[in-house]
Order: sequence, then C-alpha cells, then structure tokens
Amino acid sequence: MKRFILYLIRWQLSTPILAPVIAFFKHSPSLFGAREDWIGAIVANLIGGAIFFWVDRFIFTSYAVEVWNFKDKGICDNCGKEDSLWRLVKAPNYDKSDATPRFYCMACSKAKTDELRKKGLKIRGKSL
Ligand SMILES: [Zn+2]
Repeated sequence: MKRFILYLIRWQLSTPILAPVIAFFKHSPSLFGAREDWIGAIVANLIGGAIFFWVDRFIFTSYAVEVWNFKDKGICDNCGKEDSLWRLVKAPNYDKSDATPRFYCMACSKAKTDELRKKGLKIRGKSL
C-alpha cells in the first residue's frame, strides 16, 4: 500500500508539466492554464497511476525483464574453462547489479540458474 501511495505521488510530479501543455493546446489565455486544467491533470495522473502501478509491477516482476551480461570469450569463474561466458544480472526478485561480477560458462550457468529456479526464482534463461 505504501508503494502504491508513493507511486501515485510520483505520478503527480508530472502534473506541473501536463497542466500547462493541456492549457497550451487548448489555446488558454494564461500560460499556466485554468484551474480546470490543473484539476484535470491531477485526476488524469491519479487514474494513470492507479492503472500503471499494476502494469509496471507486472513488467518488473515478469519473465520479460531479465538482464544478462555476455563475454564472447573468457575464463569461467566457477570451473576455469575458457568459453563464452554468461552472467545473470537481473531477474524477478534477483538483482546482482551491485555484486562483484561472476561469469560462467554455459554448463555452469545452466547449473546455477537451475539452482536458482529450485529456490523459486522465475528465471527464463538465455536463448541462443
Ligand atoms: Zn564453468
């Protein structure tokens, strides 16, 4: 609930941009528009925030968002084999963007992602 409220507040940050733009395209005599332009922008941002909170939540926790790093050739940090290397950086409920990078060969990467899947993480994996 706290996140939802913060999200709605974040959407309201665009109100000072939206209201004058509406006023401009309505050929409002005032540069900053009428009171109704501001009320309309606030209401539109409340509606937009209420809808896109769920859309963004789906996007950022779905299989669609998975970030991998790839090295054409290097030494696997697990087995020492020289090969093409992979590193999973981000997946739903998994974020190693601040961690020390560990690159794995295909076999070690598959073993690692299988291990993470067993822990309940939603990892689609890479497709070549
Ligand atoms: Zn390896």
